[in-house]
Amino acid sequence: MPKVAVYWTGGCGGCDVSFLELGPKLLDVLSQVEVVFWPALVDTKRQDLEALPGKAIDLALINGTLRTQENVEMVEVLRSKSRYVVAFGACAHLGGVPGLANLKSREELLVEVFGGGFRPTPPPGGPSEHALPELLPQTLPLAGAIPVDYVVPGCPPPPALIADLFERALAGDLPPAGHVFGKDKAVCEECPRKKEDRKLDKIVRPHELQPDGERCLLDQGMICMGPVTRGGCEAACPKAAMPCTGCLGPTPKAGDPVLAMISALASLVRAGEEGEAAFSAEDKVLDSLADPLGTLAKYSLPSFPRLARSCVPTPVRRGP
Ligand code: SF4
Ligand code: SF4
Repeated sequence: MPKVAVYWTGGCGGCDVSFLELGPKLLDVLSQVEVVFWPALVDTKRQDLEALPGKAIDLALINGTLRTQENVEMVEVLRSKSRYVVAFGACAHLGGVPGLANLKSREELLVEVFGGGFRPTPPPGGPSEHALPELLPQTLPLAGAIPVDYVVPGCPPPPALIADLFERALAGDLPPAGHVFGKDKAVCEECPRKKEDRKLDKIVRPHELQPDGERCLLDQGMICMGPVTRGGCEAACPKAAMPCTGCLGPTPKAGDPVLAMISALASLVRAGEEGEAAFSAEDKVLDSLADPLGTLAKYSLPSFPRLARSCVPTPVRRGP
């Protein structure tokens, strides 16, 4: 019976919960595997993991961004004990939402959250091993610390992609290493909304518009990352009138999602304009994008840091 491990580093827990979305299929999966390590589900500790022989685990699914030194130590142990390691979810894949913390240094974050003078010391009278683990200078995607065999993308991953991974693993039919579960084509290609590539003359946030039920959300002024984002979710968000936020990561063709989306937006803004008028229209519309990095690099900042920062230099705006 294949041995499986699931581990959660610096994430929200949503990826651990996402297995429940398999419904009855989860019972099928659990009846065919042996869970040897899954702290959220069974009482297993680090020493249990360390006691396993090398490569004793067939499939390790790791979610969350790497935020602490302890996260790195744990995934290194998991790597040494596992035949296949899967980056499960957007945080492990690209850095995810917690990766936006990389906009600040570790020291700035500690001061902002805890005030000055914070030290990760043990509680008074407590042993030194009870000290909080040290924060890494920056968050990292899983591949920033260990070799990764597969990616199941999403925030959290869609059930169809989780099911595909288990079905192929249990059938002994895993694809070549490096495979990303999901489609190479963009979300737009699985979205039923009608896309007309209309000229974009203003950007609206989701709470500012009651969108037309059939038309493309981008055509209606919402920033929908569908054109540059990997499909595999059956366009779940656009179908529910919410723009795609890019959680499955960029398509292989798109590359850096920030650059790709700015390019897509620029061509929509410039449609029908020429010369200086085109650039002035482009500046006006793109300047109206509130929180550019939080919108265009919501899941990808740790994986595409240089271009994101240089292409969208506007400071992140706070507030309602
Ligand atoms: S990918 Fe999304 S659901 Fe999973 S841990 Fe990160 S924030 Fe949570
Ligand atoms: S709503 Fe979004 S995903 Fe759907 S066609 Fe428009 S841009 Fe693409």
